[in-house]
Amino acid sequence: MPDRKPSVNHRHALLALAVAASLTLAGCNRSQLPDATTPSGSSAAPAGETADQFIARVNAEFQALMPELTASQWLSATYINDDSQLLAAKYNERYLAQLNDWIEQARRFEGQQMSPETARAINLLKLGASMPPPRNPEHLAELTKIASNMEGTYGKGAYCTGEGEARQCRQLGQLEDVLRSSRDYYAQLDAWQGWHTIAQPMRPDYTRFVELVNEGARDLGFADAGEAWRSGYDMPPAELAAETDRLWGQVKPLYEQLHCYTRTRLEARYPGRGTVDGGLLPAHLMGNMWQQDWGNLWDVLQPYPNAGDLDITGALEQTYQAQLNERMVKENALIDSDRRADIAHAAQTENAKRMNERAQDFYTSLGMPALPESFWTKTQFVKPRDRDVVCHASAWDMGVKIDGQPDVRTKMCTKPNEEDFTTIYHELGHVYYYLAYNGRPPLFQSGAHDGFHEAIGDTIVLSMTPQYLQSIGLVGEQQQTQESLVNSQMRMALAKVAFLPFGLMIDRWRWGVFDGSITPDNYNGAWWSLKAQYQGVAPATARGEEFFDAGAKYHVPGNTPYTRYFLSHVLQFQFYKALCDASGHTGPLNECSFYGNKAAGEKFWAMLEKGNSQPWQQTLKELTGGETMDAAPVLEYFAPLQAWLTQQNEGRTCGWTAPAAAQTPAPAAQPAAAKPAQG
Ligand SMILES: [Zn+2]
Repeated sequence: MPDRKPSVNHRHALLALAVAASLTLAGCNRSQLPDATTPSGSSAAPAGETADQFIARVNAEFQALMPELTASQWLSATYINDDSQLLAAKYNERYLAQLNDWIEQARRFEGQQMSPETARAINLLKLGASMPPPRNPEHLAELTKIASNMEGTYGKGAYCTGEGEARQCRQLGQLEDVLRSSRDYYAQLDAWQGWHTIAQPMRPDYTRFVELVNEGARDLGFADAGEAWRSGYDMPPAELAAETDRLWGQVKPLYEQLHCYTRTRLEARYPGRGTVDGGLLPAHLMGNMWQQDWGNLWDVLQPYPNAGDLDITGALEQTYQAQLNERMVKENALIDSDRRADIAHAAQTENAKRMNERAQDFYTSLGMPALPESFWTKTQFVKPRDRDVVCHASAWDMGVKIDGQPDVRTKMCTKPNEEDFTTIYHELGHVYYYLAYNGRPPLFQSGAHDGFHEAIGDTIVLSMTPQYLQSIGLVGEQQQTQESLVNSQMRMALAKVAFLPFGLMIDRWRWGVFDGSITPDNYNGAWWSLKAQYQGVAPATARGEEFFDAGAKYHVPGNTPYTRYFLSHVLQFQFYKALCDASGHTGPLNECSFYGNKAAGEKFWAMLEKGNSQPWQQTLKELTGGETMDAAPVLEYFAPLQAWLTQQNEGRTCGWTAPAAAQTPAPAAQPAAAKPAQG
């Protein structure tokens, strides 16, 4: 379940966020902790309690535990130090121990008659933790400590070079800037390799982490943690694996065309070095640390340089500079550099707030409510100047109310560029989901499945057409020609289509790690095999087992399941199509924006408001009329681009050959012992 905890919702392709996958409940286990540390709200099961009464009590206890859990997680993510990490680990431990207690207590009701809602809620309890908790209290404590440490290590990660006075340390954001802007082959390689050094020390921790979550998963009756993750989809876990294969098969031909076109352009840009053996794309040249979004390569990949270039970054940067100048002219010309940095920070904050206001405007144009006042005072809009924080964008439901409104926030280190602009729309999708299902019992306060949670904001992003951007004054008059259409489709494809195999491969790797088919002595080799197999990318230099490259992606040390992002990239096109239909749109799908359309808004809200109170198939049916996930709308949307790419690639040999080691079958495809769909 996504995001009710500290949910960090990732901005997948465009950005990043979400951790939470878990239902996040937090708690404490009375039987395992001294009374003095037992949080209020925890209680032993009363004799004679019915299943319905049990769930009502769990909901109440859950609600009581949420504030301290989320507060400790928020603190540790926005103020990284040993103390905040200790608190986060301890509160997480308490919560997971309480979760174990509830699960144990729920066993009394097995085989008994109960309402469908109660049966669903009991099942959700077992699926509620992305980090399945071991029952052994020492192991549980060890697990939460490792988890906090890994997240802290990632957040503090820096690549340092030089000695003495010349020593310089760069964090992720600065290294990403190099990949975004530099086209120097070696500067990019240095930034890419530099960031990956931060993950090397995590390798032993991660190995132990895997043992502990597997122990927890087995305690809950699953074969391993990967099976526990795959069980959260109202279908048998083996079916979920097959379902993702089927969806990938639908979109793979489109990805291969995009890959082929990109390779040709890279070869032209870096003659003799634009590919790695076998036709693979060099990992460090893709404009993105993980090759999950190729939008930063716009200068290399833009189909028609003079046709309808939507320079969103330029427009945002201009606005920011104007705000900065305005503040500067009010100051004495002789201010020191500290004061200068203060002013820049204030201007960045103001600019980030304006970007959030624009995103909010889209949601309110659909008839959704304005964000609560506390959102504007409690959100982390930009990177603080004085401390380490986890910059990975995320959306939070703190589990308390302020002046009668839910305390919802986001955490970002916003910069005035297109990527962050769309990430804000994505994060607000999580926030509006939180607001919409807030009236449901706490156990149902999550997405219909976790892919739904990730798809909400992105559905809005699909509606950010050139005409929409023009209507809000962000870009100038847009021409509507075949060339500008190809440009805008390419821009979207570099974010959405490039992401698909990445969205799949991360959990192919983790499922294999959890089920033991990928062993610790082959962590890195298997990682790059899967990268080659699915994405067709490869490192330009050898990456042996002394590295731990998976750990350089937030969601691995942060333990956020990733299949949700793949599913979201399929679902968002289904949602978009359904809402375009509701708005009365006719004509090509890619031209639709439902901005300002109340009929679409009502339909959207009705889905959000359901939360996780019924199987997702039902929720999907109410919105789209169908009960299965389907990538056909992805293909419909990108039909003009696919035709253009096929033409461009004519006469070329497309596809790639993964290195021999990469031929090992993906562990994910192996059917796991089937469990009945529950809930
Ligand atoms: Zn997200």
